[in-house]
Amino acid sequence: MIYLDNAATTKVFDRAISAAEKAMSVDFYNPNSTYGCGVDAKNNIEQARRTIATVVGAQSDEIVFTSGATESNNWVFECGRKNQKGNVVISAGEHASVYECAMRLKSRGTDVRIVPLTREGTVDINAFKHAVDGDTTLVSIIHVSNETGAINPVRELVTTAKKISPRVLFHSDGVQGLLKTDMPVSSLGCDLYSASAHKLGAPKGMGFLYIKRGVNMQPFIRGGGQENGLRSGTQNTPYIAAFAAALEHFSQSANKADVMKIKTYLYDRFVAVGYDPVIPLDMSSAYILCVHIPDVKAEILQNALYDKGIVIGKGAACSGSKRGNRVLSAMGLSDAQAECCIRISLFADTKYEDVAAASAVIIETAEKIRSNHVG
Ligand code: PMP
Repeated sequence: MIYLDNAATTKVFDRAISAAEKAMSVDFYNPNSTYGCGVDAKNNIEQARRTIATVVGAQSDEIVFTSGATESNNWVFECGRKNQKGNVVISAGEHASVYECAMRLKSRGTDVRIVPLTREGTVDINAFKHAVDGDTTLVSIIHVSNETGAINPVRELVTTAKKISPRVLFHSDGVQGLLKTDMPVSSLGCDLYSASAHKLGAPKGMGFLYIKRGVNMQPFIRGGGQENGLRSGTQNTPYIAAFAAALEHFSQSANKADVMKIKTYLYDRFVAVGYDPVIPLDMSSAYILCVHIPDVKAEILQNALYDKGIVIGKGAACSGSKRGNRVLSAMGLSDAQAECCIRISLFADTKYEDVAAASAVIIETAEKIRSNHVG
């Protein structure tokens, strides 16, 4: 099978599996127990936290482990606004785990402002400047779109927002951006940044919320006071160990230039046969290519390719059952065009030969579907 849906999830690295196995079979003790092996388990967590912080460009006390980015994003919306006051600004390109939280705030009476996207899938900067005002307390802008790969200029948006509203908390959903852009977390300038382990060669159900030093976040999940009182619940020691091993391995083995070469090959191949990449090559992540294939429904193509051993995506896996595509329509695509968009997403271990072979089959299959449809 040629797997090209790595924005949905990735295969767990062998090193991450070994790290999780050791934490389950050898170092299985409760990290909150005060006897020796409990203390050792706690030390393993702190070692993993230091590794992750170093790799992503943060301080270790800024990393709080969660059950994944959905939890991190929910935490931000439940607890990231002092006294629950002020308005909230998000973009029209947010993942459901941000968008739905914002909609819940709106249903409770909060003024939620949704900044439109440009045709290139990024936040419309002028509209952003108008949306943020002195009463804005929370801004949440996705770093890299999971649907299109569009990269938002987070650093510039943070500067703009803080100039207008110095007390604003700036959050970014970094799931598709972490280690896949050249931006260490600290260089983005945001106060909060969500990450998910399973997009980077670690297991599902693990992530972190980066909380910049000095930012005062209330806990979302209360109980035994783990994670420095910020996120209760016995820590998931196997997955924390796996997360650290995966990020370390990814940072050493993933070569963005190589991934970009593969994406460029695909991009050129599709353009040559008249398909429309949704975002220009230089404005999107090396790891994600979203392309519109006129008159070929993505669902039909996806199923036909699956039968031939090729796995591709269409829209977001998390919202795969919902009709339409909120993000693509926010960029100005019609429903009919959005239905004909596929998403191909690469990873550190994606092979050029596999992609070359897959692209020939994708084009051949798409053309067959089109001729059946048109003919
Ligand atoms: N945000 C983005 C941009 C994502 O792509 C995803 C995963 N589809 C999430 C949040 C949710 O992450 P998790 O699966 O760790 O809850």
